[in-house]
Amino acid sequence: MHDDTDKEPAWSLQQSTARYQVDGWGAPYFSIADNGNVAVCPDPEQGVSLDLCELVEHLKARGLALPLLIRFSDIVRHRIKRLNEAFQKAIAEYEYTGIYRGVFPVKVNQQRRLVEEIVEAGRPFAFGLEAGSKPELLIALATMQDVGGLVICNGYKDLKYIETALLAQRFGKTVIVVLERLEELDLVLKASEKTGIRPILGVRSKLSAKGVGRWKASAGDRAKFGLTSAEIVEVADRLAQCEMLDCLQLLHFHIGSQISSIIPIKNAMQEASNIYVELAKMGCKMGYLDVGGGLAIDYDGSKTDFHASKNYTILEYAMDVVSHIGEACSKAGVPHPTLVTESGRAIAAHHSVLVFEVVGENTVRFGKPKEPSPQAHRLLQELYETYQGILPKNVQESWHDASQAKEEAQSLFKYGYLSLRERAQVERLYWNCSEKIAATLRRVRFVPEELHDLEQALSSIYYCNFSLFQSAPDIWAIDQLFPIMPIHRLAEEPTVSARLADLTCDSDGIIDHFIDVEDERRTLDVHPLKSDESYYLGMFLNGAYQEILGDLHNLFGDTNAVHVALSQEERYKIQHVIKGDSIDEVLRYVQYDPEQMVEAVRRQAERAVSAGGLTNQQMRLLMQHYEEALRSYTYLTEE
Ligand SMILES: *Cc1c(COP(=O)(O)O)cnc(C)c1O
Repeated sequence: MHDDTDKEPAWSLQQSTARYQVDGWGAPYFSIADNGNVAVCPDPEQGVSLDLCELVEHLKARGLALPLLIRFSDIVRHRIKRLNEAFQKAIAEYEYTGIYRGVFPVKVNQQRRLVEEIVEAGRPFAFGLEAGSKPELLIALATMQDVGGLVICNGYKDLKYIETALLAQRFGKTVIVVLERLEELDLVLKASEKTGIRPILGVRSKLSAKGVGRWKASAGDRAKFGLTSAEIVEVADRLAQCEMLDCLQLLHFHIGSQISSIIPIKNAMQEASNIYVELAKMGCKMGYLDVGGGLAIDYDGSKTDFHASKNYTILEYAMDVVSHIGEACSKAGVPHPTLVTESGRAIAAHHSVLVFEVVGENTVRFGKPKEPSPQAHRLLQELYETYQGILPKNVQESWHDASQAKEEAQSLFKYGYLSLRERAQVERLYWNCSEKIAATLRRVRFVPEELHDLEQALSSIYYCNFSLFQSAPDIWAIDQLFPIMPIHRLAEEPTVSARLADLTCDSDGIIDHFIDVEDERRTLDVHPLKSDESYYLGMFLNGAYQEILGDLHNLFGDTNAVHVALSQEERYKIQHVIKGDSIDEVLRYVQYDPEQMVEAVRRQAERAVSAGGLTNQQMRLLMQHYEEALRSYTYLTEE
């Protein structure tokens, strides 16, 4: 740690705002306050703001140690409101006669408090939930208790999943089973016959319009989920044969997550609108168009179609969705459907901030070189001149000169024209130049490509008290970018370039990609550490997908494991069997109480029985499925 008592150069809050792109990714929730701390405004309509650094200090004083994930419920509330208002505005603008009802995909953040908050905040808008697996369906059925509440069932389904969904429809909820594979139709027909309940069905279409970026494999003919046009027609034909054409009411597509450009969204809407109209014309009852997720977040604040950004607003998105389907339906004389979105990232990302502390550093400093004596080797004289002449306008040229001098020193040494001491002096001077160049780069807007490595090589490492794998798995898994910045001292110039290392012993536990206006940066600008003061960094926008480690995606838990050893007598023997997680175990992990969930479902079932919606027999079957599912392995098992 070094104490900088030097007088600080003039630096403004505006410069910090620009340096960390705060307005781009943070507005209207995050900004820099006059005292140089990050301010959070969880409800922009009320306009009250909190001092994030002060909040952290208070929490610390109360005994809550860092790293700390801080969730702002009002932000979630505001995101839901904003999304709904955008659709309401688009609906009014285009004189659309259908309504909008979004759903929150539980997989994006399954934490019980959050899902409950979403249901509550979404109530005025009749907002629903989307389940992508059996554990998520159990969550949705226990949490969404509103009469008329919308639950969309996606993902891989077995017979019991479907039976549970059909029975829950009798609670007065709208539970829609979306067929993702043709085989699921047989299961649905079987479940419907067994329970005596007619399903509300959807089909997920494999559009030929593709998304962009990492998730583009979510659409197209070879996508994992969804039906081709031929399969959709087959579903309709088979439903017609069973006189169940009226059951098919929803068309769904999902072209991927974080769709950074509006173009693929327009293309997908065009194609889906045509399919929707055709299905209606074939006699399917229809009534819902579910456009999936994909609504992106501007993680780097650049407002571009770069993968960490997006080039459209929520309102433009809503306008595009509404106008395409509205126009296609009006032209064909088909009633305008209820519009469903499954935006997860756009609702959950902003609300949580991870705050962690820097606990140490590794910094190499070369400092100022001494002027070589007049008798010193020509190379040293030249290199010193290069050092003296480094300016923002000639960094690249100076870099070339310094590199060339170093190479020349190597070859002169090889042929005996330079002593080892002289060679060492040249190399030392080369590093002095590099350091000065790196420092100069911090003042220029555009860093030439070939100097990126230099910047990184000379950067400090700040050791941070957190685990990347635990708190931001996507940085490590898919190189996702999140805005990271100090949450205080922002009135001071950040004069250190650093990479951030976590406390795990894993060499992958380092963050060396950061947001930038153009592309990305390899280092983060931070302040010199002070020996008597904590230094806090915040990682923002990590409320979507980061709270669950990769292996709990969709709440699939630990797998069963066996230890096998070679054995002389029987070729191998099973030494240990370790049972994998059951669903109730993973649900407890995200704060649910399985007993309370059973109670919540039982209460709803009792009510349905009294109202005559559910028979005693159906109730028994439902409770049996529900309780059995809680105890079961999180993966599919044979029936
Ligand atoms: C993951 C997923 C979503 C959520 O996508 P976002 O990009 O987070 O909005 C929605 N629907 C389906 C089917 C998904 O798989």
